[in-house]
Amino acid sequence: MDHLYLDDNSTRKYSPRVVTYIQSDFVNDYANASSEHDAGFILSGKIKECRKIIGDRIGSSTKKIVFTSGATESINTVLSVDNLEKLKIKTIISSRMEHHATLHQLDYLVNKGFNVEFVRNDHEGRLDYDHLKEISNHNPKAFLTFLYVNNETGVINDVKKITDVAHESESFIHLDAVQALGKLDFDLDDIDCDFASFSGHKIGSFKGIGLLYVKDIEKFEPLLHGGGQEKGYRPGTYNYPAIMSFSLAIQDIDFSLLTETQVQRNRLESEFKSINSSFAVNCEGAIRVANTSNLYFGGKDCRELMLKLSRKNIFVSTGAACNGSNPEPSHVLKSIRAVQGVDSLRISSSFSANEVNAFLDGVRDLFS
Ligand code: PLP
Repeated sequence: MDHLYLDDNSTRKYSPRVVTYIQSDFVNDYANASSEHDAGFILSGKIKECRKIIGDRIGSSTKKIVFTSGATESINTVLSVDNLEKLKIKTIISSRMEHHATLHQLDYLVNKGFNVEFVRNDHEGRLDYDHLKEISNHNPKAFLTFLYVNNETGVINDVKKITDVAHESESFIHLDAVQALGKLDFDLDDIDCDFASFSGHKIGSFKGIGLLYVKDIEKFEPLLHGGGQEKGYRPGTYNYPAIMSFSLAIQDIDFSLLTETQVQRNRLESEFKSINSSFAVNCEGAIRVANTSNLYFGGKDCRELMLKLSRKNIFVSTGAACNGSNPEPSHVLKSIRAVQGVDSLRISSSFSANEVNAFLDGVRDLFS
């Protein structure tokens, strides 16, 4: 093993089908898929196939899928002033544990005069669903936006409870489902949300490709205006190779591997805690996806630890926004408990036994 990459929630290595594509057809797929000649026509036919493959995997018909440049764009599109005004929204209900793509857009919306309400969460990173109900009762016909799976802790939100509240209060519901893809087997039409955002590179496609699921496309106001791509809902020249890579990566998802991932993740956590009595696992008591572990190092400076591990070719994440030499503690962990600086590391991987052993050896080395 020349290096140990344990940072899948940040981005994943190219999936096997994507690697084969890069080494074969990619170089020839340069045409503009909107061109009327055959080179373009062939690619637009393949985009149709990709849309069908992706739709089948996420439980959506093809007409509800809008390709975007990634989840940040998808989230900013549903939470745009234009879209919210079209839906006659005054209040947005969310949590303080969301990804920055949501939180920073919510800051912007507050400045634009929207009312934003935050649902409380407990010390395990679980939403307080009674509080959500209470806020929704006071603010019907609102716009709810929540993570499906938290990118830092792996905690799974109960989307059934969230959508039930949305329907009871006649509100719209958007799910940031980026970290659910490939880790949970879901069906969007069953979940019955209005919008959902996804990102290809989190499952091993090229970067710069994502999608927005829109249940009722006529009610939706696009962010961009330009050519007629995506029926005008998201204009701009098709990023054909990226769309192809997204559809290939989604075919490489193998849920049967998750059982072993969970076994190895659990072993990693219990052996980690035995290294030092001050070590703990953040959000251990919540229902979490199998590939994510957020480790508390007893108050040690984890920015430094991350760099030391990096020098040993073990790549993990602080899960925190860094500002030069003054790294900020994670906003997610801050909403969960008192944090003193960057005190935790996020490990995310499909976790083979060898990877877990190598990571634990690396940590033991640093603390021996
Ligand atoms: N939402 C979540 C939960 C994420 O983990 C990410 C990626 O960091 C994003 C949104 C943004 O995705 P993208 O990189 O496609 O803009």
